[in-house]
Order: sequence, then C-alpha cells, then structure tokens
Amino acid sequence: ASAAAPMRLSVLGATGSVGGSTLDLVAREPERFHVVALTAATNAAALAAAARAVRAEVAVVADPAAYADLADRLAGTGIAAAAGPEAVVEAARRPTDMVVSAIVGAAGLAPSLAALSATRTLALANKETLVTAGVCFMAEAARRGVTVLPVDSEHNAIFQVLERHAEREVAEIVLTASGGPFRTLSTEAIAAATPAMALRHPNWSMGRKITIDSATLMNKGLELIEADHLFAVGPDRLSVLVHPQSVVHGMVRYTDGSILAELGSPDMRTPIGYCLAWPERRPTPVKPLDLAALGTLTFEAPDRGRFPCLALAEAAMRRGDGAPSVLNAANEIAVEAFLDGRIGFMGIPGLVERTLSWAEGAGMMREPASLGEALDLDAASRGRAAAFIG
Ligand code: NAD
Ligand code: MG
Repeated sequence: ASAAAPMRLSVLGATGSVGGSTLDLVAREPERFHVVALTAATNAAALAAAARAVRAEVAVVADPAAYADLADRLAGTGIAAAAGPEAVVEAARRPTDMVVSAIVGAAGLAPSLAALSATRTLALANKETLVTAGVCFMAEAARRGVTVLPVDSEHNAIFQVLERHAEREVAEIVLTASGGPFRTLSTEAIAAATPAMALRHPNWSMGRKITIDSATLMNKGLELIEADHLFAVGPDRLSVLVHPQSVVHGMVRYTDGSILAELGSPDMRTPIGYCLAWPERRPTPVKPLDLAALGTLTFEAPDRGRFPCLALAEAAMRRGDGAPSVLNAANEIAVEAFLDGRIGFMGIPGLVERTLSWAEGAGMMREPASLGEALDLDAASRGRAAAFIG
C-alpha cells in the first residue's frame, strides 16, 4: 500500500452508467479514495446505496421531492443528505483532488463549472458542457489552473496518444463511431425505427440519452464539438470514421504519416480508470482485448445522408458561436420526445434543423460569454423546440 493520502473525489451523476462504473473502480480500492460528494437526479434509493458503499461525506439529490426518502435512508450513517439543484452545485464546490462530472445533458453545465472552483482535476464525461458552453468553460478551467481530463472514450484515447506531441505535428484527429444499431439499415427502415430498436446499442451499455444519440450519430457530432474544445486543432483537422467493433477508440495521424491509436475492450472503466490514475496507469478489472479471437477490424466512411444529425452537428461546429448550444438544446428536447413517442426517429434531425434556423433568423447565435448566457440560450432553444413539437 502506498503512503500517499487518499484522493479526495466527488462523482456528479453517481447513479448513472459512467457514475456507476466510476464507483465500481472506487469500491475495488477503497484505501485509494476518500469520497466527498455523490449526486443524482431523483433516485434516492440508488444514491443512498452508493453513498453507503463508498462512505461518502454527503449525498445530494437534485429533485427536492426525493429529500425525505434520501435523509431516511442515510439516517444514522453519518452521511449528510441534501436536495435541490443548488445543493448539487454546492456539492460540486466542495474541495477535492478530482471531480468526475457524469451528469447527462446541459443539466451538468452549472455543477461542472462549479467544480472548477475547488478541484485540481476535472474528469469530464458530460460532453454537453463543452457543446453548450465550451469556450467559457475551457477559459475558466485555464484561469483556475484545473486540468480537464476527457472521460469520453474517443477523447480519452486521443488524449492518451496526443500527450507527448505538439499541435503543429498533428495532421488529423480521428474519432471512431460504432455506427449505432441502424448502421446498415435503409433510409426507410431508419425512419420507422422505434425507441426500443434505437435503445439496443451494439457495443456499449450506456444511459438512454447517449444511446439514442449514438443511433442518430448526433453523439459523434457532439463529440466533434467536444474535441474542438479539448484539442484546439480546428474543425479542419477533426474527422469521423465508422468502426463497428468499437475497439479502436480514437486515432491521431501525424504530419510524418504515422497514425497512433488507442485500442481496448468497449468498457468505460478503461478511460475512467485512466483518469483516476493519471498521470500514472493502474490495473483495472477490464477484460483484456483478445485481437486474435476478434480476427477482423473494419472501417467505413459515415453516411451523412442517412444520418443527418452528424452533418447538422458538423455545420454547427463550423458555424460556431451559439450554434452548438442551440443544436444541443434542441437535440435534448427531440430525444425526450422520441423516447415518449411524440416524434419519429427522423423527427430528431428535423427538429434540430428547424430550431437552428429559428435561432439564426432571430439573431440568437452569439457566443455565450458566461454561464448565464449559455443557460439563457439553452432555455430559449428548448422552449422553441418544445413549441415546434407542441
Ligand atoms: P445516465 O443517464 O446513465 O446517468 C446520468 C446521471 O446524471 C445519473 O446519475 C442521473 O441521476 C444524473 N442526472 C440526470 N439529470 C440530472 C439533473 N437534472 N440534475 C442532476 N443530476 C442529473 O448517463 P450516462 O450514460 O452515464 O452519461 C453521462 C454523461 O457521460 C453524458 O453526458 C454522456 O454523454 C457521457 N458519456 C457517457 C458514456 C457511457 O458509456 N455511458 C460514454 C461517454 C460519455
Ligand atoms: Mg464517446
């Protein structure tokens, strides 16, 4: 055992897919971590169980109606309970060595930004933070001297293979995409897709929202915008390659012709474990990749005709300013409506496109200069997108 003090760690979105994978790693090496805060949206039972398992200092649920249940379940444990969106933000502001930001959607923006004020390292899974307010978020991280480590598997892969190189040596950063469950379907079949079909991801087990984003390829579009903020090589050096096996997670092609890639089993505990151990490496329980058993890795170009969300996100990335925030907000509304059966699968790109044209026409595309402006643009875009469905 090392003599080092345990790492003070908070996990925002502790009851989700990424949050659960993080706590799985923490529970395997309890002496390495001192868990400060865990947060969740509404599920008091799951949050209380997680907080007890890792002996957190405080557990916070965003939904005030879940407070009594949470407090009840934590009674006598010494773990403090709190509730409400402001309490989530306050929890993110508790002093730590690392915060894992794994809330889904733009709801993660305020807590992620708050975390920058009292931590040294932010392990960021919540890609919507960078899509909605990437410029002010990265500026605030730099101002505070906080290291932002990408948890998203593609960005984590690229971060790993970029670490020792200068920006001018990079010719191209390649994000791989599984292609989702509809990769080989016709336009007609995709248009008829149901939520149940779209929720069946071929390789990764993830939360519902990102699983739908993977089916539309919006996830890859959001990831291009995320990469644009994380790696600062500009849109011309960012590309997408479909790779159905999800074994190569990301690649960097250098100016000398070398391509460096990170490969691994599709298990988020590899990128999360990398962040928790950074700048070292430590063992994880992830099944070693057996390339001989796998035999074949294949690659193909993405089809923007059948998957217009990718083209919409690429256009928003190039348009810049507020366009990515509007795209993200409209997409969150569209995904919810699709899951509720209120719009069809191709209604998702339809609604995103319509909301983007509305925002352009209304002169709303200014770059959000602050958290407040980003949240205002997000709220206005959500309101308009919901009205378009209404
Ligand atoms: P999930 O739906 O499984 O979990 C989301 C978590 O956020 C839950 O703990 C939930 O309680 C909490 N939450 C939701 N809404 C909230 C709100 N309004 N306020 C406070 N907390 C709230 O999602 P996930 O799949 O774990 O994804 C989390 C983030 O990580 C997303 O941004 C996603 O794009 C990104 N990501 C996920 C994966 C993956 O493998 N799941 C991979 C890469 C990136
Ligand atoms: Mg990803």
